[in-house]
Amino acid sequence: MRLGASRFVAGETLDTAVAAIRRLNEKGLAASATLLGEYVSDESQVEQVVAEHEAIMRRLARERLDANIGFKLTNVGLSIGEALALKNADRLARLGEELSMRLRIDMEESFTVDPTLRIYRALLLGGRQDIEIALQSYLRRTEADLRALLPLHPKVRLVKGAYLEPPEVAFPDKQDVDTAYLRLLELSLGPKAYVCVATHDDRMIERALALARERAVPLTGFEFQMLYGIRSSRQVELARAGHRVLISVPFGPEWYPYLMRRLAERPANLLFFIANYFRR
Ligand SMILES: Cc1cc2nc3c(=O)[nH]c(=O)nc-3n(C[C@H](O)[C@H](O)[C@H](O)COP(=O)(O)OP(=O)(O)OC[C@H]3O[C@@H](n4cnc5c(N)ncnc54)[C@H](O)[C@@H]3O)c2cc1C
Repeated sequence: MRLGASRFVAGETLDTAVAAIRRLNEKGLAASATLLGEYVSDESQVEQVVAEHEAIMRRLARERLDANIGFKLTNVGLSIGEALALKNADRLARLGEELSMRLRIDMEESFTVDPTLRIYRALLLGGRQDIEIALQSYLRRTEADLRALLPLHPKVRLVKGAYLEPPEVAFPDKQDVDTAYLRLLELSLGPKAYVCVATHDDRMIERALALARERAVPLTGFEFQMLYGIRSSRQVELARAGHRVLISVPFGPEWYPYLMRRLAERPANLLFFIANYFRR
């Protein structure tokens, strides 16, 4: 952590995440705690992870923080079976309702998209409302997925996509990923969906702001989201302009793969990491 991971990861424990979330709340930013970890494939471990998520939710509520949780379905049963993931996601959603806390479901590798969308639909059709699903603009299929979700009045988090995918399923060219992102914004921002504009890219942010103005979408009709430690001053600037800005706060002992994805996205981060190493 001392090497530089702490810029992107709040810490290894829930206490460190709570402290980071409190600091964000003090700056007018909402937050979402994300316990790091991927592909839990042992049933007793899955139960442990679900119980940990429940404990996180209760703690955030007890501390009266403006915060919710984000999680990956492969951590709560999808690596074992879809039925188990649905049962556990519904269990978390029930607690979310009790605590008035939104659940944010991440989107993972492309082979998980179908079961993830089926689970999201099942939750909504089962009456769970305050659930957000991520959609990745780099996937060729995503526009069709978004169109299919719109009649359900979804809460969609638009992201570009963070995994290495083959060209058959994802646009290899960044330009196409960006164009697709703008297209998803056009399709969804407004009364049909609650859109979470999850990006650090000013072009996307500016387009969302312009669309919201053109379509008279109220400030409560969409939000911005960014990752902990990335473009912190822009986060505060948007919040000061009256927007809801939510920061995803990753924490936990399994921070290494997350950090590697952030470094791969932006080589400048690697320089930051190395500089910290020599500064120790
Ligand atoms: C709240 C949130 C939730 C997410 N959830 C998911 C998910 O469920 N599934 C998924 O696949 N992906 C998810 N992502 C990650 C996302 O897919 C991208 O990998 C990531 O956000 C980088 O893309 P970008 O939109 O910021 O644009 P980019 O085109 O990557 O970057 C635009 C500009 O933003 C700045 N920037 C971007 N990344 C960094 C960085 N790491 N460090 C410093 N500056 C940077 C730079 O100035 C850059 O020029 C999420 C991202 C956010 C913000």
